[in-house]
Amino acid sequence: MKRQRPPAVDLVLLKGHLKTLCLPTMLAECEATARQSAAEGCDHLSFLLRLCEQEAEARAERSTARRIRSACFPQMKTLDTFDFLAQPSLNRSAVLELGRSEFVTKRETVILVGGAGTGKTHLATALGVSACQRGKKVRFYQVSELITQMQEVRESKSLGRLLSQLSRLDVLILDEFGYVQTSPSGGELLFDVISRAYERTSVIVTTNLPFDRWTEVFGNERLVAATLDRLTHRCHILEATGESYRLRQARSRKRGTSGIPEAASEPDRDAD
Ligand code: ADP
Ligand code: MG
Repeated sequence: MKRQRPPAVDLVLLKGHLKTLCLPTMLAECEATARQSAAEGCDHLSFLLRLCEQEAEARAERSTARRIRSACFPQMKTLDTFDFLAQPSLNRSAVLELGRSEFVTKRETVILVGGAGTGKTHLATALGVSACQRGKKVRFYQVSELITQMQEVRESKSLGRLLSQLSRLDVLILDEFGYVQTSPSGGELLFDVISRAYERTSVIVTTNLPFDRWTEVFGNERLVAATLDRLTHRCHILEATGESYRLRQARSRKRGTSGIPEAASEPDRDAD
């Protein structure tokens, strides 16, 4: 008969294998799950399934967290903390539908238009976070930051590398389109990014400027027409026409009532 090894030795060997096989959650949980499974009378296959599920779940959570970090969101915002009652011009079910990221699979564009404080950055971030949770690669840029970065790398001749990084994205978020006057070369670089993204990468744009005023910022009518043509082809336009959420909060604070549901009344740390 085969000689049984002491259980302590088996455990050391098992842990060694789990480490070599890069299964950290199984390594951390194997003893507790084995005890629980024995107490519940689970058979061996159910025990193994439980352990594998824990590993798979933890792995998915780690990769979502990694994608969210790489997206460089200015703040963590989600759709469940967005108060739709405060912004009635937005169609709640249409926004929640976008949160399912079908538009990313279809390579469609989302344009969020509205005044300051109406939740454009919040929603763009929340849609980006939902996409990250569904395994999509996302990058958030303020338009001025992207233009500056492109101008810098153009001088060091690594613009091609940046453009190829951008081309590997599933979602490119361009926040604050048209907030600052853009130089002609900056406008051209931005246009180049948008035309490369066309039908390959979903773009989410936030802007406070109605389309007919984009020429004022980019100066070049032909460029603006071509950019709008690409952006608005297969596009979801969300218009937030309500008042600023910050103003509303400030007014409620003055009156001594929150006036805003608990989940949505988080502190405002935005700069704009
Ligand atoms: P915008 O980009 O349109 O200027 P933000 O998205 O930066 O506005 O919103 C400003 C602040 O108000 C953020 O902290 C955001 O989370 C919050 N906010 C704006 N609208 C809402 C809303 N409808 N529900 C919850 N929070 C909101
Ligand atoms: Mg904003």
